[in-house]
Amino acid sequence: MNVWDESRIEAVIEDYQEYVNPGLASLMKFAGFGDVEVEAQGCYLRTASGAEYLDCLGSYGVFSLGHRHPHVCAAVHAQLDQLPLSSRTFFNEKSATLAKKLASLAPGNLQFTFFSNSGTEAVEAALKMARVTTGRTDFIATIGAYHGKTMGALSATGREVFRRPFEPLVPGFSHVPFNDFDAIAAKVSDRTAAVIIEVVQGEGGIIVAKPGYLEAIRQLCNDNNILLIVDEVQTGLARTGKMFACEHYGVNPDIMTLAKALGGGVMPIGATMATPDVWSGTFGGNPLIHTSTFGGNPLACAAGLAALEVVESEDLCSASAKRGEQMLAGLQQLQAELPGTITEVRGLGLMIGVEFAVKDVAELTINGLARRGVIAAYTLNNPNVIRIEPPLIISETQVHTALAALGESVRESIEMLEGM
Ligand code: PMP
Repeated sequence: MNVWDESRIEAVIEDYQEYVNPGLASLMKFAGFGDVEVEAQGCYLRTASGAEYLDCLGSYGVFSLGHRHPHVCAAVHAQLDQLPLSSRTFFNEKSATLAKKLASLAPGNLQFTFFSNSGTEAVEAALKMARVTTGRTDFIATIGAYHGKTMGALSATGREVFRRPFEPLVPGFSHVPFNDFDAIAAKVSDRTAAVIIEVVQGEGGIIVAKPGYLEAIRQLCNDNNILLIVDEVQTGLARTGKMFACEHYGVNPDIMTLAKALGGGVMPIGATMATPDVWSGTFGGNPLIHTSTFGGNPLACAAGLAALEVVESEDLCSASAKRGEQMLAGLQQLQAELPGTITEVRGLGLMIGVEFAVKDVAELTINGLARRGVIAAYTLNNPNVIRIEPPLIISETQVHTALAALGESVRESIEMLEGM
């Protein structure tokens, strides 16, 4: 493997500092990631200094199939040699086939798909569809929710630190505590177009919907002709042990958003799926009412199709459930050993959060993990929580490795803080 000179690594970090994002560069260095990524395969990422990392973050849910899955890479290579981007005049087979495949997998009656390039764009489309279909303006979202950072999606995101600097945002959004059905019911009015919700709040700190919560929201929406938007950008495609997390609850959304893992860890793609009613309400009057130049491009759709084939052929739903159980059990044991330090361990499948009593312990633990060759991170809206979202192909031995490194790192962090 090619190992870089120290000076070349330093130069990249300096350029980042000078031309990309100085504050972020400092944060990355502090967290223990002061190196340059150069290649990846399966569950491992290699850096320019020659270090190898077990990727237990998976780019926040992107690398469900691992890095550079051969089936996805082959599909993308083949498409690259044929027609990478669409002319946007003729029909495109990859886009049609992926939409059809998604319709066959999705819960309920989500027959149609609008393709975009990211999670936040998928949410933008969902919000616009809800407004134009219902003719109403308002949305109910949850505190701690993360739906993206473009103006519409940010209006649904429930964290003030990201919202306040950009106000006024899109009007009509209210935020209520997650897992509190009565709080949602209390906000319903004749202006409510939709409720937008994650099944497991990801950036909010890996908070799983309580049994009965989503079911009650579904009923509330039915009773009031309100649309239910389920944001599966992070939870979708086997991450939680089922193809879509809402299936754990038997709840069928009217609109569902996907991104991250849909590109198979090779291409960016976003998707907004909806029922025929929502589709005719949105595109019935004008098929160009919402569009995207790159959305649904053949490269991304070829990756998406190949990714879905792998999720099915390698039975990643079962893998996620099984390895998730192993990881959760190991973490619960660690919590039992360190009850004052780790306050809670929770998750669904391989979307797991470890909550620390003290934010500094979480931060130092991430650094300690990096020094032991394991990548993890905290959740964006809750820095006390470390998230574990490895590739769903992670092996039993690799889970052991991650757990051992975590145990050592937490204990080391406690000692470091006590010595300060
Ligand atoms: N929705 C959810 C549930 C997410 O987790 C994220 C990203 N963390 C987004 C939307 C936004 O996706 P992106 O960063 O691709 O715009």
